Amino acid sequence: MHISEIYRSLQGESTYAGLPCVFVRLTGCNLRCNWCDSEFSFTGGRKMTIEEVAAEVGKLQSATGNRQLATGNCLVEITGGEPMLQEREVIPLMELLVVAGYKVLLETSGERPLARVPKEVIKIVDVKCPHSGEADTFALDNLAALEPHDELKFVLTGRTDFEFARDFVAQHQLAGRVHAILFSPAFKKDATGSRDTSHCLLGPEQLARWILADNVPARLSLQIHKLIWDPAAKGV
Ligand code: SF4
Repeated sequence: MHISEIYRSLQGESTYAGLPCVFVRLTGCNLRCNWCDSEFSFTGGRKMTIEEVAAEVGKLQSATGNRQLATGNCLVEITGGEPMLQEREVIPLMELLVVAGYKVLLETSGERPLARVPKEVIKIVDVKCPHSGEADTFALDNLAALEPHDELKFVLTGRTDFEFARDFVAQHQLAGRVHAILFSPAFKKDATGSRDTSHCLLGPEQLARWILADNVPARLSLQIHKLIWDPAAKGV
């Protein structure tokens, strides 16, 4: 497998936000979203076997004394880049981690087929909105692969994105089909130093008003890792 980085931090953007999590970031992506915050993962990285990745996850997790693993609450997130570009390796890796007792999250753009992802894995699937620059890349067949514990995420930069997301949720009757529908304001790529929600490309207060006005069954989600750590920092 081509791996960009493996590290332990806090989960930043899902209903698991704020919880300790080991991240496995795979190298490479076939999309180029305008607001992408992980362009460093498009190239480079190191070659590792599935077993080496699992061992490194175990080493980071053992720092916690394996208390979380014993309770089935130890989070591992497979992310990228686009992890499903390495489907041949990432599927057995996820199977291995599930059997080892981890709660596995998969962060994916939804452009690649998801039908072979193990059912125990919690998929956090992006649906790209018009201003991402990658509209219409979501594979609609993937809606049939969603499990009740999965989450759908829409990263928004303005009203056009909001209306697309709102209408997509209604058209495909997604409310109740997944655990959460996340509406997340995109964060400015060049935000450094002291940061707050004014660095969001769509103000959270404005988004909250739109969600309430149109009664959208979505959860407003902020990328808390951007507020905690410098957006340019790696391994956090
Ligand atoms: S799919 Fe994810 S990693 Fe790829 S360009 Fe878009 S935001 Fe970046």
